[in-house]
Amino acid sequence: MQRLAFFDLDDTLADRTLGFRTCIRSFCSDLGFAEDVEQWLLKVMYERAYRSDFERLRERFAVSAPVEELWQRYCGGMADAVTCTPAVLSGLERLRSAGWSVVVVTNGAGDIQRAKLARTGIDVRVDAVCISEEVGIRKPEVGIFREAARLMGADGLWGGWMVGDSAQNDVVGGRAAGLRTIWVSDGSDGVEADHVVSDAAGAIDLLLGLEGARA
Ligand SMILES: [Mg+2]
Repeated sequence: MQRLAFFDLDDTLADRTLGFRTCIRSFCSDLGFAEDVEQWLLKVMYERAYRSDFERLRERFAVSAPVEELWQRYCGGMADAVTCTPAVLSGLERLRSAGWSVVVVTNGAGDIQRAKLARTGIDVRVDAVCISEEVGIRKPEVGIFREAARLMGADGLWGGWMVGDSAQNDVVGGRAAGLRTIWVSDGSDGVEADHVVSDAAGAIDLLLGLEGARA
């Protein structure tokens, strides 16, 4: 049986929250944007950023730079700012060596998620990447997990695991898809996951510890 391990990207495998603040600060400083623009971007793109956010930015603050230029600058800035720990990178390698098929399942725009995956080195340490914008389905919809399994040529999701920081998207969505779940969290808001760990490295260790035990 193929053992599937699905991982969320933002604030699970990679630290988006910290990187986002750093990126927006540099972005606004480089372009000479005022504090009100910075605060607006921090609020509007806190969860997720899309090209359309920069269309709104141009209209709201009469910015003349083209949307594509703003978006590409932001994508590059985020890719530079987001980090993944050596423990997670080596852990992904260990998982694959142990026979797990590892897939990133993430909501977001394809180009920025792929830029982050490449810059952190996650992309060469996983078997496949399933991004909502590219497949037209978002977590927590069950279809995105099925699509991730299909990318691996798996018959279904039986015996698979989902690891992520979002109670709704990763845990509730993963369970609805029939996956077992590991919630990367302080565990404080009462969602029922199979396991709760404080970071992705802990989730990887847990999966590796299931080795031979058929979970
Ligand atoms: Mg996340």
